[in-house]
Amino acid sequence: MTVQQDIAFLLQLQDLDLKTRDIRNELENIPRHIEEIRQNVETVRTILQKESDRLTEAESWHRRKEADIALQNDLMNKSRIKLQGARNEKESKAAQREIDTIKKNISDQEKELIELLEAIEHYRTAIAEHQKEFSELESHLEDSRREGETRMTQIREGLVSADAERKTLTVQINPASLRFYERIYRRLVPAVVKTSQPTCAGCNFEIRPQVMQELMRGETLITCANCVRILVYDGEPVVPGESTDPAVSS
Ligand SMILES: [Zn+2]
Repeated sequence: MTVQQDIAFLLQLQDLDLKTRDIRNELENIPRHIEEIRQNVETVRTILQKESDRLTEAESWHRRKEADIALQNDLMNKSRIKLQGARNEKESKAAQREIDTIKKNISDQEKELIELLEAIEHYRTAIAEHQKEFSELESHLEDSRREGETRMTQIREGLVSADAERKTLTVQINPASLRFYERIYRRLVPAVVKTSQPTCAGCNFEIRPQVMQELMRGETLITCANCVRILVYDGEPVVPGESTDPAVSS
């Protein structure tokens, strides 16, 4: 088992670990996403309930107002009869005052009736809109639940096969290299970085020329002096026998 082989397997392992991490995140996000939609459904349901209560209230007030106006009209007729039958100016003036008061009452009640009608209209429109939104959200929730279930099953199956694939890979890696990789991966992702330049692709820290030569030779596992990521040379292949002594170039 050469270091080169180890590194090749570590890169494969990292690809697999990154993929697994992403799908695990997706798996966690599905129920969260569904819960958000469910909460939206509940919000609209609450709004609808309030609007429906207010509509019922406004309709009830409207009925009472109408009955009140009918009553006032009856009183008005009685006062008119009184006016017609008045025997003197005093009785006539009293009946006229009654009529004036009733007229004002009716006029006030009619204004309120118009306001109530406007409120009823407003609530009916709002309810219609929210009912539409509610049924759209409900079917969206149903779709999301169904799709979510399917996706979660796929992901769980994917995780099982990724786990098997991981086992197959890890047995081929030097245990010390594997442990080293896993220790870095727990706190730094990616743990293995490719570079063709004398800088760490993870943290941009400079790679000393001598270390760069060792990295190019690929005989040992090289790590970044700053972030400890495993470095992989990804540039032009080094021709065997060619001088890689940094002393020559400097
Ligand atoms: Zn680094």
